[in-house]
Amino acid sequence: MAELLSLATALARVLERVTPLDSEAVPIGEAAGRVLAEDARAFVDLPPFPSSAMDGFAVRSEDTPGRLPIVARIAAGVPAPRALERGEAMAIATGGVVPTGADAVIPIEYVVEHDNSVEIADHVGEGDNIRPRGGDIRSGDVVVSSGTRLAAAQIGALAAAGLDRVSCARRPRVAVLTTGTELRSPGEPLGPGEIYEANGVLLATTLASAGAAVELLPAVTDDEASHREALERGLRADVLVTSGGVSVGPHDLVRRVLAGLGVEEVFWGVAVKPGKPLAFGVHDRTLVFGLPGNPVSTLVGAELFVRPALLALQGAAEPGPVFVQGRLAAAVRRNEQRDELVRARRRGSNGGVVLEPVTGQESHMIARAAAADALVLSPRGQGELAAGESVSYLPLG
Ligand code: AMP
Ligand code: MG
Repeated sequence: MAELLSLATALARVLERVTPLDSEAVPIGEAAGRVLAEDARAFVDLPPFPSSAMDGFAVRSEDTPGRLPIVARIAAGVPAPRALERGEAMAIATGGVVPTGADAVIPIEYVVEHDNSVEIADHVGEGDNIRPRGGDIRSGDVVVSSGTRLAAAQIGALAAAGLDRVSCARRPRVAVLTTGTELRSPGEPLGPGEIYEANGVLLATTLASAGAAVELLPAVTDDEASHREALERGLRADVLVTSGGVSVGPHDLVRRVLAGLGVEEVFWGVAVKPGKPLAFGVHDRTLVFGLPGNPVSTLVGAELFVRPALLALQGAAEPGPVFVQGRLAAAVRRNEQRDELVRARRRGSNGGVVLEPVTGQESHMIARAAAADALVLSPRGQGELAAGESVSYLPLG
């Protein structure tokens, strides 16, 4: 293996090979997790009219305090039949159109209502409890900007601003191929030397959460012919992700077969633990990731490299990985040569997030990793990170 690339260099090499995908119109009800390809602009002023923030009475502030006749009752969606005149009040519901002539709403809790009049004891300030037209956003202004990944708040905003569909990057088509003669599907009996295939569904799950349309190819045994056939098929996708067979053993065939299919290998080997023998290449516009087969290596490689690549393909403004700060609950010994991603469990505390490394940090220990919801970055170097030390971590979905 040539010299190992640092995490940052390897990620930069991946991202510089990304060409953003085309866009398509997506109904907002289906747009969760999609990345906006153009600024989305409000179709209306929001609110579209001066609206009442409270259940109460619309009045002229100069008429308060006072006892005023109730001349109309305004429900949400049912505007008043006429303007409010001097000396009048109109009952109004939250979200009702404040009638012309009124400049304030007094909440129902602050008045005494008689049969057809209302007694207001205090002065009401001009503008009180009125949400002005366009106070949230103006028609034509940007509600959600290009490159934003859409979640509940953005989708709600798009709907409120009157947009029924938005332009999003199309989903990257991702082919996932697992390799290994020893692999059996869960649900089948295991023969001697066999193990259950874990990485296919692991990758399908995590990459779908990054917006991918995943095609999970049937696992292949460690022979060149079946590798070639499956990899050739996988290269038709926007992204091909393989697991296993990228190390130095005689049965590690992925890199050799990819080279034979014309894939340009951009790098092989990253100074990261787990996941060192990760390979990355390109074939036309297809990005190819060869992840090592140990399930935790696959998980880490997917989070550090494949997810950011998928988000970048979709034009995300921040493809990540976005590390955040927390504190270690226990000391962690550093690796001298490689940055290590330590599986840890997050706990909230008054002082912020505390990260408890799980026991069992070897790269095959996927069951131990199941107790973790964070990858703590332990930068390569000597000695240890002390308990209580501030560290960067990557939250896991
Ligand atoms: P490899 O990268 O092919 O050398 O595989 C490294 C280790 O991961 C070996 O112990 C494999 O049996 C195991 N492994 C490879 N692929 C998978 C998979 N899809 N699911 C579970 N374990 C795997
Ligand atoms: Mg293998």
